[in-house]
Amino acid sequence: MRLLIRNCKLYVNDRIVENCFLLIETPLIADFGIDHGGHSSYDINLNARGRILLPGMIDAHVHLRDQLLSYKEDFKTGTASAVLGGVTSVIDMPNNDPPTNTPTNLLERMELAKSKILANVGFTCKPSVNHSINLELSKIGAIAFKVFLYEYMVDGFLDTSSLVKILSSLSKLDRVLMLHCNIKSKFSEVLKLARRRSMFKLCRIEKELAESILRIAQAYKARLHFCHVSCPKAIEAINKRKGFMEVSLEVTIHHLLLNYSTLELLGSIAHVDPPLKSKSTATSLFKLLKSGAVDIVVTDHAPHAIFEKEGDDPKPGFPNLQLMMPTLMTQVKKGRLSLNTVVEKTTIKPAEIFRIKKRGMIRKGYYADLVEVDFKRKLKVKSQILVSKGKYTPFEGAILVGIPVRTYVNGICVNDDYTIVGRGGEGKVIIPGDEPHEC
Ligand SMILES: [Zn+2]
Repeated sequence: MRLLIRNCKLYVNDRIVENCFLLIETPLIADFGIDHGGHSSYDINLNARGRILLPGMIDAHVHLRDQLLSYKEDFKTGTASAVLGGVTSVIDMPNNDPPTNTPTNLLERMELAKSKILANVGFTCKPSVNHSINLELSKIGAIAFKVFLYEYMVDGFLDTSSLVKILSSLSKLDRVLMLHCNIKSKFSEVLKLARRRSMFKLCRIEKELAESILRIAQAYKARLHFCHVSCPKAIEAINKRKGFMEVSLEVTIHHLLLNYSTLELLGSIAHVDPPLKSKSTATSLFKLLKSGAVDIVVTDHAPHAIFEKEGDDPKPGFPNLQLMMPTLMTQVKKGRLSLNTVVEKTTIKPAEIFRIKKRGMIRKGYYADLVEVDFKRKLKVKSQILVSKGKYTPFEGAILVGIPVRTYVNGICVNDDYTIVGRGGEGKVIIPGDEPHEC
């Protein structure tokens, strides 16, 4: 299939080029450049009406659920949320039911996903119950391994021997170890801290845990990636080790753009781990993002059934994928972030960290994962617009711009005019290091 997109602005080599065309030979980008006309051989011709065509975002922290957790989200609703959010590839977390921690479970999950996904998905795995890493998992195609630190805490202290076991088996593999540096927090406690305007203790713990992990890991060759870091001091601690070991970190859109006043306003709907912090902390995270101290931006899309968000002990997390590009592009429109920063932190850098080949940039021979963005169209966020099974959002009421009006995944249009047109199966399972056969 040859698909010609005309009358677009193209984001290539860190700048926008006006009056361009782009030719897709599914699943790859075949050609692009200034449009002088004279195109003859194509099956479909689309007019982008002068809108910007960006590389699709890669969200490196997503919980797609499905299987026994499909009442919260499934591969189809999760990846539909992604493509409406300008995201063409996601990395799925392993705390599923069954957990993604054995070759059988990983293969089963990959197989189930194949016919349902509208976006590309890379699968992470957990270490086994005895804290070892099954090397077979990386041969099958696990994109990374993930440790949930609360499973490694004994009486409030880090169980270093288990972590050492994981780090030593990982040093044989070229795979990232994703980990948290926050402890689990109870909603009632978090609300008390928010009302007292006192999140310092949580930030101190985050920084100290990051430092402990980095100290232990320096003797091993493992590559580390810290998930949803929410405090500036922890970011500084991680950045200090960057010259000495391979380490990266992510910040979520909600920690950048929201603060605990949302928690006070919306209650348990806005409960998340790590919890939302103060406005000044969010401002500092923003500055660190602009300065280059943050490697990537993610959503930590974590939908739960609405009944699980209620009661005394609500589950942490909310669905954010559908809002990823609009929340960030609204900051670009306001002049608070540059387009280059947003593109780098959501496409090029995640592809680099997770060794995702031929995605994350507009280049000939790369997969045609593209998003047509409308900066004039406005979107008022309401829970009813979410295609996720989780119909609630801490961004309720926000007015956003930079709407993904068309999304192409592997050269196939899956979102047209902010409406899902993909049926599932357009996305591919991402195997790290894999290149397109067509090249
Ligand atoms: Zn998560």
